[in-house]
Amino acid sequence: MELGVTHYTHWFHPLTEGTAEKHDSFVEHDGKGGMMEVFSGKLLVQQEPDASSFPSGGIRNTFEARGYTAWDPSSPAFVVDDTLCIPTIFISYTGESLDYKAPLLKALRAVDKAATDVCKYFDPKVEKVFSYLGWEQEYFLVDEGLYAARPDLLLTGRTLMGHDSAKNQQLEDHYFGAIPTRVAAFMKDLEIEALKLGIPVKTRHNEVAPNQFELAPVYEECNLAVDHNMLLMSLMRKVSRRHGFRVLLHEKPFKGINGSGKHNNWSLGTDTGTPLYAPGKTQEDNLRFIVFIANTLMAVYRHNGLLKASISSATNAHRLGANEAPPAIISSFLGKQVSQVLEYLETSDKKELFTVAGKHGMKLDIPQIPELMIDNTDRNRTSPFAFTGNRFEFRAVGSEANCASAMIVLNTAVAEQLVLFKKDVDELIKKGEPKISAILEVVKKYIKQSKSIRFDGNGYSDEWKAEALQRGLDCETSVPVIFDNYLKPESIAMFEGSGVMTKVELEARNEVKWETYTKKIQIEARVLGDLAMNHIVPVATQYQTDLISNVYRMKGLYPEEKWTKMTEQNRALIEEIATRTAFIKEHVDAMVEARKVANKIECEREKAVAYHDRIAPMLDEIRYHIDKLELVVDNQLWTLPKYRELLFIR
Ligand code: ADP
Ligand code: MG
Repeated sequence: MELGVTHYTHWFHPLTEGTAEKHDSFVEHDGKGGMMEVFSGKLLVQQEPDASSFPSGGIRNTFEARGYTAWDPSSPAFVVDDTLCIPTIFISYTGESLDYKAPLLKALRAVDKAATDVCKYFDPKVEKVFSYLGWEQEYFLVDEGLYAARPDLLLTGRTLMGHDSAKNQQLEDHYFGAIPTRVAAFMKDLEIEALKLGIPVKTRHNEVAPNQFELAPVYEECNLAVDHNMLLMSLMRKVSRRHGFRVLLHEKPFKGINGSGKHNNWSLGTDTGTPLYAPGKTQEDNLRFIVFIANTLMAVYRHNGLLKASISSATNAHRLGANEAPPAIISSFLGKQVSQVLEYLETSDKKELFTVAGKHGMKLDIPQIPELMIDNTDRNRTSPFAFTGNRFEFRAVGSEANCASAMIVLNTAVAEQLVLFKKDVDELIKKGEPKISAILEVVKKYIKQSKSIRFDGNGYSDEWKAEALQRGLDCETSVPVIFDNYLKPESIAMFEGSGVMTKVELEARNEVKWETYTKKIQIEARVLGDLAMNHIVPVATQYQTDLISNVYRMKGLYPEEKWTKMTEQNRALIEEIATRTAFIKEHVDAMVEARKVANKIECEREKAVAYHDRIAPMLDEIRYHIDKLELVVDNQLWTLPKYRELLFIR
């Protein structure tokens, strides 16, 4: 109340990409005609929002619309304006998760338990392992006035049409360039607001595309980092408007220039202060480092399709696989030094590798490892899952996404793998193998088995696509089909085995994913159809009419031969406009028909597949002709702001 708070809300992450809140005031009637301000422990801990309008994938039947929110004390409550916001999980009456946070907390518990058990091989004092996340948020800013004049941006978050600006990012003059004054003012304001909420913002810079920027905080415990990212995104939306901007968090707001991602820098660390993905000073430290690297590679290898599913969406599909973002195939880049160590371990004979030393039993002779700290400069920007010195960087995450989706899968997969590792090692120990030698044997096996996930080359190349297919990696590019990965037997076994999600929950979530996919494409198709018919075609026709009248008037002025020559270009333009507008009209109609057919499909998966296969490609076909018209139609008539304005006014 000292902070001026009059209301409180349970703040949660439903299966939309946003957050949800319903504000209640502290006011209660005192029964004597007066008021008092009350806030009980009961209200802090649990609530029952009437939340039947949140996506649940069929878990919450209409007759049982109740859902519960429950306090997550591991993420601090915070104050926004006059409201106390309490981070909570959101579950159904029957206990299924209806949000991102509940399964994330379970995944973090699973990886904590599994990693702690493995750490005990090296240090019995370890009692807890934390998962850390440092996200890098990319975004675009556009002038609010121009944004308001682009219904496609307003309604879908991206431009559905717009020809390339003559100048865009080809001069590479924006990346790390001087931050424009008005943008700098926005950033400063945003950072102050973020720091007030405890978000440890640190880095800001221009990104590759014009009007594209990045913000990154210092990494935090994963659950908190996820909450902070959600909060930051809503802060960005709010603060940008104070500066006459709109922030675009969509993965691909503009065709032909870079899209936005959200690199998820991820690592594990113990309660004794040991980072598990950093090589240490002793040889045992280094073995532990290799153990975690090898297990992570195994997890990523075994669940590469699922990891891709965790970052897939209708919007991120525009970015992945394009030549600026990670390809739509998950692979891991380790850098030269770590790769060398793994090759060494894989190929060398155990007897040669070790020399018995002291009471630790074995000495691991890998002189290369300690140098890692110095040299982590060999980076591979095309890798979706790159090792960067003391962490892995999952780069395929979309800028608009809730990081929890990726973090749930990654932490659960690593947890499952560490459990298997411990089982393998303990079996060998039971057979009489010394601990270190048992660990090395299993590590060696994993290095071999997971080899196909390692790729140090150019992830954008066509050769890689062919090779990845041969290696058996998931190369699917259709988002609705990629979602199938969640329901593969090995995924269900992984989620159920680690207590993170049940089959019922996974099925329900996929229903939501397919439905969301369909709706996003449906909205885009409608917006494009509307704009094509009530902006583009009328404007192009108007210009065409102007040209026709010019041609006719010329006829009265000049003899036939001269006239023919002088009006040649305009007559060609008249024809071009006729052809293109006819194509547009025809295809907008066809798109409406295709939607009608798709909408009749009952199965959410099949419907999403139909939208992907039949409707999404039509958006591009129609756009092609609109963009061509934009080039020829009189600029004075063209009602929509163009890329050259959207991208360069700042
Ligand atoms: P880049 O060079 O990739 O832009 P930065 O140095 O800006 O990377 O850091 C990116 C993010 O990675 C930051 O949020 C940073 O705090 C985070 N990070 C650094 N070390 C770790 C770690 N061990 N675990 C998780 N995140 C980390
Ligand atoms: Mg980075």
